[in-house]
Amino acid sequence: MTNRRRYIRSDQHFLVDNRILNRIIDYADLKPTETVIEIGAGSGNLTELLIKNSKKVYAIEKDRSLFRILEDRCSSLPSDRYELIYGDALLLDYPKFDKVVSNIPYSISSEISFKLLKYDFLSGVLMYQLEFARRLLGRVGTKDYGRLTITFSYRTDTEFLEKVPKSAFYPVPEVDSALVRIIPKKHDLKLSYDAKERSDKLEEFFFKFLTAVFTQRRKKLRNAMKNSAHIVGKQYKSEIDAILPLLDDKFGDIIALRPYEISSDRLYELSTAIYDILTKE
Ligand code: SAM
Repeated sequence: MTNRRRYIRSDQHFLVDNRILNRIIDYADLKPTETVIEIGAGSGNLTELLIKNSKKVYAIEKDRSLFRILEDRCSSLPSDRYELIYGDALLLDYPKFDKVVSNIPYSISSEISFKLLKYDFLSGVLMYQLEFARRLLGRVGTKDYGRLTITFSYRTDTEFLEKVPKSAFYPVPEVDSALVRIIPKKHDLKLSYDAKERSDKLEEFFFKFLTAVFTQRRKKLRNAMKNSAHIVGKQYKSEIDAILPLLDDKFGDIIALRPYEISSDRLYELSTAIYDILTKE
């Protein structure tokens, strides 16, 4: 084993295929006015191109040795066009950005993706492990469809761009990858304060409800809702037996199915109905 091999960690596979690097830039469709965030910049293969094609890049990297290489590599570029941030992308608050473009560390794909949803940005082009990309875009009734798919389809428009072969990386990983575009859905700016507050609370409840029922994805929804009630909250847990019969008329059809067999729209309607019962004066 060479020194270089020993030094590289399992989530450090560098994108070395220039055709794919250039296609990422094309997909991102960067404007000279736009700021970009890159998570896990590595030795800067993508960072350099991002800097050349945008107004400013915030590049985050948590590996000290790679960060030094990144600093060296960017030092010949105009310093007002980038900010290199040494740290853990899971722990940092991100500066305001227009687009996110990253070949992210696959071991934290889920955490980073959910974290990104908290920010207001225009669009993202992200490299994921192929299996993860399939889960983001899973179809109802398939093994790929779950909490991740529903949360993402509720908050973003997600598009599969292309499969990326292992050979595009060094060292060659064991898994294939895929490029995905995400475009956050815009909030309805015309909502009154009360309507916005209700919509935020419904969303918070919906995400908890999803987390809960998908811990039991192979159980019938009726049982999944009971078994996982503690995840949603105390009041829900104590009232779920009384609530279930009230749902039979409108939701009897889906309560008999398994969570992964139900469309995200129907799950949202159900979660809203439960929230309304729980919060009725
Ligand atoms: N962007 C580079 C490229 O495309 O060649 C490197 C991609 S590599 C798949 C992922 C990078 O994320 C590695 O450089 C790794 O050190 C870095 N990384 C891993 N966990 C991180 C974290 N929590 N915060 C910031 N960077 C992280």
